[in-house]
Amino acid sequence: MNVWFQIALWKRILGAMLLGVVLGVSWGEGVVAIAWIGELFIRLIRMVVVPLVFVTLVSGIISMGDPSKLGSLGVRTLALYLVTTLIAISIGLCLAAIMQPGTGVDLSAVAPTSVQEAIPLSERLMSIVPENPIAAMAEGNILAIIFFALLLGISLLTIGDLGKPVADFMSAGAEAMLRITHWIMEAAPFGAFALIAQLSGTAGVGALLDVLTLALAVAVGFLAHMMFMHGLIIMKLMLGLSPIKFFLGARDAMLMAFSTSSSSATLPISMSCAEENLGIKPVVSSTVLPLGATINMDGTALYVGIVTVFGAQAFNIDLSLADYLLVAGSTTIVSIGTAAVPGASLFLMAAVMDSIGMTPEQNAAVVGFILAFDRPLDMLRTVMNVGGDLSVSTAVANWEGEFDREAFDLPRN
Ligand code: ASP
Repeated sequence: MNVWFQIALWKRILGAMLLGVVLGVSWGEGVVAIAWIGELFIRLIRMVVVPLVFVTLVSGIISMGDPSKLGSLGVRTLALYLVTTLIAISIGLCLAAIMQPGTGVDLSAVAPTSVQEAIPLSERLMSIVPENPIAAMAEGNILAIIFFALLLGISLLTIGDLGKPVADFMSAGAEAMLRITHWIMEAAPFGAFALIAQLSGTAGVGALLDVLTLALAVAVGFLAHMMFMHGLIIMKLMLGLSPIKFFLGARDAMLMAFSTSSSSATLPISMSCAEENLGIKPVVSSTVLPLGATINMDGTALYVGIVTVFGAQAFNIDLSLADYLLVAGSTTIVSIGTAAVPGASLFLMAAVMDSIGMTPEQNAAVVGFILAFDRPLDMLRTVMNVGGDLSVSTAVANWEGEFDREAFDLPRN
């Protein structure tokens, strides 16, 4: 038992994932027999998302002491989220233009898949204000929960001593929720094992061979964005921090993102990595990360950009510079609106393809084509989504003076 706990968690998760691949490949479809383990694990982490976000956000704001600081924190967070997303899309579009993944691909025989309409931006903005905060929690509407928690935190600060019992309650709640997250993380090797086994036993990886160039463009974009944007520019040049330490500190969350394909299911683990490994103080981790899990999706943006250009190439649609700009703009909106769950962007990218004049039939054929191998690419883009949130949180924590450099620099094995 002790030997098990002496092995670093990330090694246990990674080892379990490798075993999962072996089991999936050798057992094939029969692997669905253990699918319940993966499902149980996802349910466990989903269970803590809403209470964790709510109580840590309220107690984070109280710990800040001065609500006026929220303004600069908010502006910096949103600005950096937007810039990193735009850079991810630009990388994706350049790669798609250079590597030409769609040229020569014949989509005429593909069974079209029905695509879902994107929720209009105005509706999404309106739903940030909950009609009923309890209902917002029951539905897991993170933006509405953030909105209400912000108001509650600020109001507790302004009522002084009177607010103390509730403030204490919230900070004890935050500690308790993080403790539960830790316990759940101990189950991660088993969950990741079952999730990966199921994936490699049923579909996915093999189908990737059909679309090698597209997958390659996504993988190259992923590496370029993570290494240059987050590693070199943000960590090294802007913050003077070691990119390696950053990735080591973020690796549990990134591994979780990889095995669950869901930024929202990864959120509790991202928050614990931020506070414990990256030296990000609770006020930043509790505000910046839930917001990022909901609206900041670098990987999704990169992917949607590449697939859109892929579709245009497959249907011989010439794209002008103006088209590329249109794709960049609409992809930003789509990535903000994408739910943080597996496969979410797949059904929203029709909105982007619409913007360059592709017909609904063409959109449906593209989605039908990539459906079969979306999962492995979803795993990559979710790692990028989560990595981006953690990198922006590290930057904002530095700028706001809410950063513990010693904790960040601690050696990790
Ligand atoms: N699976 C992604 C996430 O949860 C969203 C997407 O489909 O792009 O971050």
